[in-house]
Amino acid sequence: MGRAQNSAAIKASTNKPVHYVFDTHYHGDHAYGNSIFVDVGALIVCSESCAEELLTKGARMLTNWSDKAHPLEGSRLELHILTFSEGVVFDDGTERVEITGVGPTHSNGDAVAYLSKEKILVSGDLVVTWTAGNNLGDARWRPWPLDSFS
Ligand SMILES: [Zn+2]
Repeated sequence: MGRAQNSAAIKASTNKPVHYVFDTHYHGDHAYGNSIFVDVGALIVCSESCAEELLTKGARMLTNWSDKAHPLEGSRLELHILTFSEGVVFDDGTERVEITGVGPTHSNGDAVAYLSKEKILVSGDLVVTWTAGNNLGDARWRPWPLDSFS
């Protein structure tokens, strides 16, 4: 898809402007579409650790991408414009989004977003139903929030 097609697809999915895009972590299925949203004027938001991982491991993975079933034509690595160490809150008086860093967990830079009005938690890949569980190379078990329940 070209830039105009991506912009049209975004406008077809919402009539609201997209000011911010939050990456829960650096993995490609979460961050490789950043450039599409930057092209329509959005700022990318993620933790400092997420940004560091995206610029190192994420950049390597994007350069070596060979999955023909999921082509990334037109996608480019975007520098994150707004990073945070522990968290950040967006509140315009109508909507409130509380973003909190929780990594290292699924990756070093995981963060979650809580929409307090709707009582929705956006957890990224912290909570999955994959057959293999969350047993990926980046996962760190010790600091995982659920460790406190074991
Ligand atoms: Zn992931």
